[in-house]
Amino acid sequence: MTEPPEEEGAQTFADLGLHEDVLEAIGEMGWEIPTPVQRDCYPLAVAGHDVIVQSRTGTGKTGAFGIPIVDRLISVDGDEQALVLAPTRELALQSAREIEKLGARRGIDTVAVYGGASMERQIRALEKGARVISGTPGRVLDHLNRGTIDASRLRILVLDEADEMLSMGFAKELNAIIEKLPKKRQTLLFSATVDRAIKRVAERHMHDPQFLGLSGDHVGALGIEHFVYMVSGVGRVANLIAVLEIEDPESALIFCNKKAETEEVCAALQRAGFNAEWLNGDRPQREREEVLGRVRREEIRFLVATDVAARGIDVSHLTHVINFSLPENVEQYVHRTGRTGRAGRTGTAISIVGPTELGILYYLRLQYRIFPVERTLPSEGEQRTRQEADLIAMIDAAYPNAPSERDLALVRRFMTHANAERMLAGLLTAFFGTETEDIDKVAAAHRRRGKEHVDAHAQTNGDTQKPAHAEAESPSTATLYVNVGRRDELKASELGRLLRDRTGLKRKEIGRIRVRDKHSLVDVPEDRAQDVIESMAGAVLRDRELELELARGD
Ligand code: AMP
Repeated sequence: MTEPPEEEGAQTFADLGLHEDVLEAIGEMGWEIPTPVQRDCYPLAVAGHDVIVQSRTGTGKTGAFGIPIVDRLISVDGDEQALVLAPTRELALQSAREIEKLGARRGIDTVAVYGGASMERQIRALEKGARVISGTPGRVLDHLNRGTIDASRLRILVLDEADEMLSMGFAKELNAIIEKLPKKRQTLLFSATVDRAIKRVAERHMHDPQFLGLSGDHVGALGIEHFVYMVSGVGRVANLIAVLEIEDPESALIFCNKKAETEEVCAALQRAGFNAEWLNGDRPQREREEVLGRVRREEIRFLVATDVAARGIDVSHLTHVINFSLPENVEQYVHRTGRTGRAGRTGTAISIVGPTELGILYYLRLQYRIFPVERTLPSEGEQRTRQEADLIAMIDAAYPNAPSERDLALVRRFMTHANAERMLAGLLTAFFGTETEDIDKVAAAHRRRGKEHVDAHAQTNGDTQKPAHAEAESPSTATLYVNVGRRDELKASELGRLLRDRTGLKRKEIGRIRVRDKHSLVDVPEDRAQDVIESMAGAVLRDRELELELARGD
């Protein structure tokens, strides 16, 4: 590749000619080079133009307006303010955090104003002289009406995710806000899609806007790879699990078209051993925030959400966007898939496509020139082979050390025995519980443990008596040792029933029960473990008084 010629524009933030303190702030944020939208938007914005920018979350768009605002558009000594409007409180907050960081060293403060939070606090922050206001339309209008935001000072207006604001029904508030602003102002409009409605907003409220577009060809070139899996439309959840097994994404935002689906899909993923959470508009605010916090801390691998619930949240660290089904229109597809790939990194979009969704795929090609690559799901046989390979890999990783001479001699004798296969099958069944044939469950358990746990186990486990899975469960479950086993003619179902009766645990909260010769092991939610041990004290089963304790190594 040849170096681009000089006149192509700035390659570094310093080339943009930013103030030293903004450069330092950017350095502290770990941004090394401007993203294309930041590079292209800055000169237009500081030249005073109104600009329409077609760009999506993940492209660095917040910086694209945040940098010119704190660097030039707002004078350090003046009293003019910038107003950033966003469709959701999450996005308003995120933008506020980012602009606050960008402007901190220049003494430009940012305040977030959104509904559902204390008006008083926002008013105090506004009074203290925040120069950038990042908010949602409803609450901003409220402040303007009360006079706690002074419209005459708002000389810079940013409409962030303008198409989302319109599709969420904020047109009335937007118009009402804009009517109150000074005519002499600068407006920057950011939108993933630029359709007629957006153009109307621009015609009405912007002055000779410059357009920074991403043509259809650019959508693909933005570094998102698109794949589709064609399915029959029946058994979609199983299809999704198969896709996750094959693609093995590091993390993903999984989109569902219906609210109810998010919970169902998430439950199925959890049953299959995946670390997943769900989000839809029905989830109470506190739970939403808790889930979003875990998403931010990268504690959640798969977030299953509706379009509405996923609006405006920063999930740019997620490597994949997966469409459980294609959305109803192509714009939504562009929105969804734009959510993957940290600025400058590639992301992957995967869609599960049934016969009724082929039309959308067609429009995607036609309108956005996105040509997803088709992939096929493995047959059942291929899937089983893969799962068996997982199981063998897991056992292999769990015992890396050479066996002792005595063990080796025993193994050799065992392997030459006429009934070796039957015996080994029996051992595997005893080890993995009663359902070795249900290899899905083994795969799920393997996932729950996570590879690192197996490896850690392999390092430390010298005692082959100790079942590998007893000490390597996921952090959320604990394995309990029960002093009754097959010798006492205990059946797993019996122990399960007694546990439910005495402890109030629900069927789904009780994990695998493994009945061994002299004892049994059962998985329970970790936070209930102590409680279960106490509740079971004194219980009698098969004429034996039960004793439960945490399994060794757990
Ligand atoms: P945005 O499109 O504004 O939502 O930004 C997406 C993510 O990219 C955010 O986490 C930003 O902090 C990050 N980001 C923005 N600009 C840059 C840059 N120039 N270099 C690296 N990361 C960036």
